[in-house]
Amino acid sequence: MKARKPDCVVIGAGPAGLGAALAAHEAGLKDVLLIERDVELGGILPQCIHDGFGSIIFKETLTGPQYAQRFIDRVEKTDIEVKLNTMVLDLKPDRTITAVNAREGIMEIRPRSLVLAMGCRERTRHQILIPGYRPAGVICAGAAQRDINIEGLLPGRRVVILGSGDIGLIMARRFTLEGAEVEGVYEIMDHPGGLTRNVVQCLHDYDIPLHLSHTVTFIHGRKRVEAVTVSRVGDDLKPLPGTERLVPCDTLVLSVGLIPENELSKKAGVVLDPATGGPLVDERMETTVEGIFACGNVMNVFDLVDYVTHTAEVAGRAAAEYVLAKGRRRREAPLRVEPGRNVKFVVPQLLRGFEREVSFYFRVQHPEKAVRSRLVAGGEVLAGRRAKMVRPPEMVRVKAGPEELKSVREMGEVRIEVLPEAGAGGNGAGEETGDDVA
Ligand SMILES: Cc1cc2nc3c(=O)[nH]c(=O)nc-3n(C[C@H](O)[C@H](O)[C@H](O)COP(=O)(O)OP(=O)(O)OC[C@H]3O[C@@H](n4cnc5c(N)ncnc54)[C@H](O)[C@@H]3O)c2cc1C
Repeated sequence: MKARKPDCVVIGAGPAGLGAALAAHEAGLKDVLLIERDVELGGILPQCIHDGFGSIIFKETLTGPQYAQRFIDRVEKTDIEVKLNTMVLDLKPDRTITAVNAREGIMEIRPRSLVLAMGCRERTRHQILIPGYRPAGVICAGAAQRDINIEGLLPGRRVVILGSGDIGLIMARRFTLEGAEVEGVYEIMDHPGGLTRNVVQCLHDYDIPLHLSHTVTFIHGRKRVEAVTVSRVGDDLKPLPGTERLVPCDTLVLSVGLIPENELSKKAGVVLDPATGGPLVDERMETTVEGIFACGNVMNVFDLVDYVTHTAEVAGRAAAEYVLAKGRRRREAPLRVEPGRNVKFVVPQLLRGFEREVSFYFRVQHPEKAVRSRLVAGGEVLAGRRAKMVRPPEMVRVKAGPEELKSVREMGEVRIEVLPEAGAGGNGAGEETGDDVA
């Protein structure tokens, strides 16, 4: 089998893959190949027919298909090669790809640079171990969304939703609009898992109850779901005996988290961050394997597609620079960006270069009011942003330019931390105010 050797291969054609392929092409790569296992471009977006996409990049709220189309139109005007219905099966540390489709069979491709953009997948019942029978009617929220919005099928008429992440909230509204009865959304944590705007627009506006600190503890029904038992949980998140309640329903929709899709990354020897489930990347979105870049949800689960596109543009441009430099670039030993107070994780986790603006994305561990998020090196605040409120579902972005990053290089250490406004000190110089999204 003769291996093809393009300048760049992008695996996955969601918003991350589309953005990365375009950026690599625009930065001067002639031979860019975009590989997608699905029948169409756009990744998860074609099934997300609600609005709320693009508020940062386009300053308007688009539906998922509209957002995707803006990038698909641009790709179609280029000579980027697209292979649909093509699954990447294997990836080696030297970037050798094995892929397959029905027309060409198995093929080997050895690109000069590679961008991972495989997105993420949903956690299933199997991963959260709900006791009970195994009837029909237990479905993940994204699969239910596909059934309704793409296939024209209604998976159930009396629905309980477990998990209040954005997909669960959006599906509570979607089922209601289709005439199903949503008995309630149950959330094990004491705060909602999704964006505030989705709690308001998807639950409050439709009088759908949200039961915080609750979980499903048994699934009833032999052939089809007939009911679920729900229980209140304690501070340790364990069900409290005596609080059980039977809720009749024919469908249990699971919205219990997403897992970055990194089987191929592991095969290539890419080191993953246990905190994000995705590759460790530096400010150019390069992984720990030279010439392999990552962007979008494969890296960590982003709340906003605009951030996905931004990481894609950085990764695509960096892949092009890598190829055009023909291996002349020295790869510096990385500096680790440490998560400080009330920070669960940060991406990028590594810094190798200090000459370009870097956006650091992070999630907090717990909700906190009136805070300053800060990039700190050697006790000096280099950049930051103030916010009235930070919550775990909403990512925070702090940007730092070459001037600030020069200090990081001098100090040899850097961390991101979130402090209460009152105790943060400093005069707020260089800090932005508010969120990215109005
Ligand atoms: C239900 C839902 C609602 C959302 N609502 C909003 C919203 O209102 N506003 C907002 O800003 N964001 C929203 N998001 C988030 C946004 O859609 C995602 O952040 C974004 O789509 C992630 O893009 P991605 O390209 O990283 O991944 P994806 O869109 O998942 O694309 C990954 C692609 O990789 C392909 N792939 C994976 N493995 C392989 C392989 N081995 N070979 C070939 N192809 C492969 C997949 O088929 C897929 O097409 C929502 C997400 C969901 C799921």
